[in-house]
Amino acid sequence: MSKIAIIDIDNTLWQFSDAFYLELKKFNNNFPTPDQWCTYDIWEGYCSVEDFITAINTIHHNQDNDKYHPYPESQGFLSSLKEHGFHIILASHRMKEMRQPTERWLARHRLPYDELHLSLDKTVLFPKADIVVDDSPLTLEKAIESGALGAGLSFPWNRDYASNGFRLFQNLNEVQGYILMSS
Ligand SMILES: [Mg+2]
Repeated sequence: MSKIAIIDIDNTLWQFSDAFYLELKKFNNNFPTPDQWCTYDIWEGYCSVEDFITAINTIHHNQDNDKYHPYPESQGFLSSLKEHGFHIILASHRMKEMRQPTERWLARHRLPYDELHLSLDKTVLFPKADIVVDDSPLTLEKAIESGALGAGLSFPWNRDYASNGFRLFQNLNEVQGYILMSS
């Protein structure tokens, strides 16, 4: 039976935070830059919760545009996991209506995967997961609790939690090395 890898999309396969900053700046020109996003409530005082959600949905709705590129390592990372026998479930916190633009983006950039899970709670997948790759410290902590191996890219919003059982890296080649060494 193949091992199951749950792989996040935003800030795991591409730099969502840069696109997000550009959208948030439309609501407030003084919005802090991503290097200052040390907590998940950074937006408070700069925009409304509705603006915040609108910015996210605008990006996901337009996922397949010419400006949103995956990281250069993303295709090789996913291919390598498949070659090593992993069943890849891409899991993104986004509305089910975003499936079409998301699938188009994945196909356009030839990112291989087995299943695409779009929901507002990806942790339902964790009981069957062998590895979880994500940038959210809360998500990674839940993965560890479920007995999975947790890893992700290092960002200002997850660095302080890196000792909580999961590992953070500078790029996906390093994440790949850690997964293959550990499994
Ligand atoms: Mg993410």
